[in-house]
Amino acid sequence: MPKLLDGVWVRQQILAELKPRVEALAASKRPPGLAVVLVGSDPGSQIYVRNKVKACAELGIFSKKLTPPETTSTAELLAIIDELNQRSDIDGILVQMPLPKHIDSRRILEAVHAGKDADGFHPTNVGHLVANRKAPRACTPAGIMEMLRRYVIPVAGRNAVIVGRSDIVGKPMAMMLLHANATVTICHSKTADLAGECRRADILVAAMGRPAFVTRDFIKPGAVVIDVGMNRVEDRAEVARIFRNSEERLAQLDRKGNVLVGDVNPLDAAECAGAYTPVPGGVGPLTISMLMANTVELAERRLNGE
Ligand code: NDP
Repeated sequence: MPKLLDGVWVRQQILAELKPRVEALAASKRPPGLAVVLVGSDPGSQIYVRNKVKACAELGIFSKKLTPPETTSTAELLAIIDELNQRSDIDGILVQMPLPKHIDSRRILEAVHAGKDADGFHPTNVGHLVANRKAPRACTPAGIMEMLRRYVIPVAGRNAVIVGRSDIVGKPMAMMLLHANATVTICHSKTADLAGECRRADILVAAMGRPAFVTRDFIKPGAVVIDVGMNRVEDRAEVARIFRNSEERLAQLDRKGNVLVGDVNPLDAAECAGAYTPVPGGVGPLTISMLMANTVELAERRLNGE
């Protein structure tokens, strides 16, 4: 097994496999359609949405971008979702999170029709995940499962430890690994001996949002380490500490004003892990690929009358 788990390579494979499925739908019926709703003008969200729309264009998926203003009310957004639920050319709906604080996010996510839930966040689809039934899956953990599968990393019977219990990464990740017959432990901020729990992991998934928090003391030698974290570090001393005074990284900080760091110390992972995902270029590229996969699957089910 190669030591570096390359998310770009996995993404290329996933997209190459989706392309003929999109073409077949387009030739026989119509292309799959994804609606992306971005409320307001958060710069980070704008980049994510742009990348999602671009991925659709590359694959031949029809995309509809809606950009209601920051001042949109919950009721107005519910009306937008309702219209998308009814549109026959839309198979998947994605509402970019986070929404402005005055909007009731839970109501919005629940308003998306479960059969058009491209993100897999609707409670019905979360239930399907728990019951191990076919349904759209949360994209980031689904992408990690694809990565494990494509690198032929054994999961059954192994100890998997996940740090983080969010609805979008930690919890669905735990369910997917459980269905793949791993023995799963979920850790969080109240876990008593985090490093000790992590050291038992054959597969360690860090999804906590704490730059380089997972160090060598957390990693069993030879473990597979999956780093979900995406943290922008701006502090020079911290960049110097994490990257052991790497001149290249400090120059990057000077150039860009920040350095992207995962939740795992990258140098410790390179030295201790059997295999690990880099940041960037590991888990990041998988999330949009799985959004595309969910959209194509929803379109196939709708257009083939499943
Ligand atoms: P959340 O903030 O929703 O959840 C973080 C989780 O980590 C919580 O369960 C929290 O525990 C736990 N945690 C935080 N600090 C500690 C600690 N010191 N010790 C133990 N557990 C801790 O984050 P997300 O799940 O949304 O995202 C996690 C990271 O993954 C972020 O960096 C995010 O940017 C990144 N991400 C990357 C994606 C990608 O495509 N690569 C996609 C989605 C997220 P508690 O529940 O007790 O508070």
